[in-house]
Amino acid sequence: MDVLIVGAGPTGLTLGIDLARRGVEALVVERAQALFPGSRGKGLQPRTLEVFDDLGVLAEIRAAGGPVPVRMIWKDGERVGERPMFERIEADEGTPYAEPWMVAQWRTQEVLHARLRELGGQVAFGRELTDLEQDPDGVTARFADGTTVRARYVVAADGGRSVVRRAVGVGMTGETVDPVPFLVADVRVRGLDRDHWHAFPGSDDSGVLLCPLPATQDFQLAGRFPDGTDLDLSLDGIRKIVAGYTHLDADDVTELRWASDFRPRAALADRFRVGRVFLAGDAAHVHSPAGGQGLNTSVQDAYNLGWKLGAVLRGGAPDALLDTYEEERRATAAAMLDLSTGVHRGEVRRGQATMQLGLGYRESSLSAETRTDPTGVRAGDRAPDGTVSGIRLFDVFRGPHWTLLGADTPVAGVRALPAAPESYGPGVFLVRPDGYVGWAGDTADGVRAYLAGVGA
Ligand SMILES: Cc1cc2nc3c(=O)[nH]c(=O)nc-3n(C[C@H](O)[C@H](O)[C@H](O)COP(=O)(O)OP(=O)(O)OC[C@H]3O[C@@H](n4cnc5c(N)ncnc54)[C@H](O)[C@@H]3O)c2cc1C
Repeated sequence: MDVLIVGAGPTGLTLGIDLARRGVEALVVERAQALFPGSRGKGLQPRTLEVFDDLGVLAEIRAAGGPVPVRMIWKDGERVGERPMFERIEADEGTPYAEPWMVAQWRTQEVLHARLRELGGQVAFGRELTDLEQDPDGVTARFADGTTVRARYVVAADGGRSVVRRAVGVGMTGETVDPVPFLVADVRVRGLDRDHWHAFPGSDDSGVLLCPLPATQDFQLAGRFPDGTDLDLSLDGIRKIVAGYTHLDADDVTELRWASDFRPRAALADRFRVGRVFLAGDAAHVHSPAGGQGLNTSVQDAYNLGWKLGAVLRGGAPDALLDTYEEERRATAAAMLDLSTGVHRGEVRRGQATMQLGLGYRESSLSAETRTDPTGVRAGDRAPDGTVSGIRLFDVFRGPHWTLLGADTPVAGVRALPAAPESYGPGVFLVRPDGYVGWAGDTADGVRAYLAGVGA
């Protein structure tokens, strides 16, 4: 097989979809018997909505969620004030999705899994990778049931405690963001409206939040507790916490569906590639949930790697193209760790930066800015939406291909529009399959040479 993807979280499922639509033979293996059941990464950032639009799941994701509610602060059973969860940005033609969308992670995973199956891909459940070995031609992965699988490449999408990362000997460098215990749980609760993200600060720096999860009857309970608290994750334990921090009674918590405790840490894998093995998502970076960056960064790791694997395996691109995955994504992940730690510590507000629309790859070796006097959108920037003669760019970008904007003559295998929107500034723009400008020129000269190097 071409690619073995270890782990059916958001990273593995996204990569599975991207490879399936490229005709790459891939298998997602998952240790558990079913998809993960918790709501944990529930904030989908605008950039991720653009990725989901391209992958053909945006309508389903919209239906599975809702807008982020306003925070309602409670004190002694009284509502004492409202506070928006993030600083708004205005939607415009280039940025049609300007608001995070709240979807329980288990729903996002269900939507991605359904899309993967629709494209002919599959998840093999109950398959736990225990070890692997690589040689110049491929990787042999070993499973807990004694079986092996041989693949040309392996992607570690197996989460923060990644077995694959350990098997290839990659360390994580980082720090504890907050040494005290945290809790996340999905509960059913009586007596709270579903229009607010309810905040119940404690007398010290502890407190709990109860956030309604749209399109479900659940609330996500999140809490920060004093050092030394021994968290009891049973229904009884959760009831005591809710009764202790809120005006609700213990039996207003009618159901506990899932619970987990953790201590926020920020750490980055020392490498994202070791030979034929790639680390992506939480296997490559762990961080505080504050600011909702984890799932989003993970999805975008997969989206960056997918087209590159496709180009090497199907387009004849040189293996060196795969080195640009670490080059581009490790720098992005490092910046995301600083951002989520800053949000966690109250030093940074949720807003423009957390929406991830400004992220790009200007410094990447894949970004070729060849215009003599570039203005507007540069090589490496996210390619904004726009219209050309009534045609919407995101409709043209949707799918696994490259797009050329502003060239009179189309290039074989690349979708082309004779003009770029005015908002891009003057020039010819070649847009990568993952929606970033790879190459920009005054004319289309040079575009074929660039494409030859990337297997398009
Ligand atoms: C308690 C908690 C709360 C969080 N809250 C938030 C939040 O509020 N907002 C936010 O944005 N993010 C949050 N996150 C982070 C977010 O959930 C992750 O960033 C996201 O799930 C990463 O996706 P992933 O696919 O890389 O890894 P995961 O979702 O962890 O998926 C890894 C998958 O690999 C499987 N696996 C593991 N080992 C093996 C093996 N050896 N063989 C086969 N399969 C294996 C696992 O069973 C799992 O299904 C939270 C994380 C945790 C742990």
